[in-house]
Amino acid sequence: MSQAHKSRTTGGFLLINAQILSLFLLKLLLDLLITKSIMAKLSNRVNQISESQTIGMARKSRELKAQGIDIISLSLGEPDFATPQIIKDAAKKAIDDNFSYYTHVSGYLELREAICAKFKRDNKLSFTPDEIVVSTGAKQSIANAVLSLVNPGDEVIVPAPYWVSYLEIIKVAEGVPIIVETDLDSDFKMTPTQLQKAITPKTKLIMMSTPCNPTGSVYKRQELEALALIVFTHPELYIMSDEIYEHINFADPHQSFAQFDFIKDRVITINGVSKSFAMTGWRGGIMAAPKWIAQACDKMQGQFTSATSSITQKAMHKAMELDFDTYIKPMTEAFRKRRDLVLDLMKDIPGLKTNKPEGAFYVYPEISYYFGKKYKHYTINNGTDLTLFLLEEGHLALVPGAAFGEDKYIRFSYATSEEKLIEALKRMKEALAKLN
Ligand code: PMP
Ligand code: GLU
Repeated sequence: MSQAHKSRTTGGFLLINAQILSLFLLKLLLDLLITKSIMAKLSNRVNQISESQTIGMARKSRELKAQGIDIISLSLGEPDFATPQIIKDAAKKAIDDNFSYYTHVSGYLELREAICAKFKRDNKLSFTPDEIVVSTGAKQSIANAVLSLVNPGDEVIVPAPYWVSYLEIIKVAEGVPIIVETDLDSDFKMTPTQLQKAITPKTKLIMMSTPCNPTGSVYKRQELEALALIVFTHPELYIMSDEIYEHINFADPHQSFAQFDFIKDRVITINGVSKSFAMTGWRGGIMAAPKWIAQACDKMQGQFTSATSSITQKAMHKAMELDFDTYIKPMTEAFRKRRDLVLDLMKDIPGLKTNKPEGAFYVYPEISYYFGKKYKHYTINNGTDLTLFLLEEGHLALVPGAAFGEDKYIRFSYATSEEKLIEALKRMKEALAKLN
């Protein structure tokens, strides 16, 4: 090839590249302008909240799967078990019985009575049906209560790591989240001293989960009592205790905040059927709280969604009556085995520091060991970088710690088969080994 031809070819190549680049930049600019103009039309309320990153990651991995890429998704906290047959049968019967009309917004009375009986049986807690509100999921129960209690400017204490939606729901209510950082050394539990320090005259609510999503930490009775004693000394303070993972607990028996009589009139207990009964898609949530809070949530829900599906209510009713050992324990045992498997396999992977999760179905390793490490065009500076790297290089979908308060962690959900977990950890080990 002559020198002149060569330089013509190189010149043409550069020209095409420059054209592609300008088209790309133009598209970027256009997208930005469109996003900006849509945002200008939307309310500040929706603009200031972010998409749920757990749901976002699940969506991303579904999209990649649809493109034929073999992704293992450990992003969404969702049991892989089928809803127990006996619950499905109750729902089918409800359909055949034409149980298909609007019910009481808080759920039909016999369901709320069954929920009270569940609280008595499992938690030794006494509630009356007018203190119970059934919703379309624990998520709605949380939103109902926050919107009913929090005024603009009220402070809400949230120990981090926290579940992804707490902060966004507080923002919708125009509350001010006050984050209390916890770490591996304290098994990610908020101490009484930390709580005391975070309280100001503006504090309205504390929001936390036990067993905790994402850390799997389970508060012991004395630990909750020490926090409850502090709350007792602040009569304007309420606690939202998210106990949706109550039955997925491998250590001591589950402990409820509401057991402490001296603060029970200020505790909002959140529960539901998604996790313990493998019913994520049915949308059934439970709140137990003082009657005046329950009435406010009923009013709120009555304007947004009304009651959850009447068929779901019948299914929940059956779930409330199930024998734990026959129906729930086998699932819990499977989760415990998977937890042990994951922790065991993780020992073989350098740089993953973790607590021993005693509940829920997540492992939440600290990954700062990888900060500064590189491979190809990747440089890892935080959990988000590592999550993206693992998705693209390892075909493994996880959730970055940024979703839960600090981006030096990654969360993986082990609510999937042992076979998939073994493959996932293999992929993770191989991908991480490329970083240096
Ligand atoms: N709280 C926690 C801690 C959760 O992990 C979840 C996730 N499902 C929810 C609440 C919401 O559950 P639901 O499916 O009942 O809305
Ligand atoms: N709670 C689950 C999780 O943390 C489900 C996702 C969601 O509801 O945001 O993954």
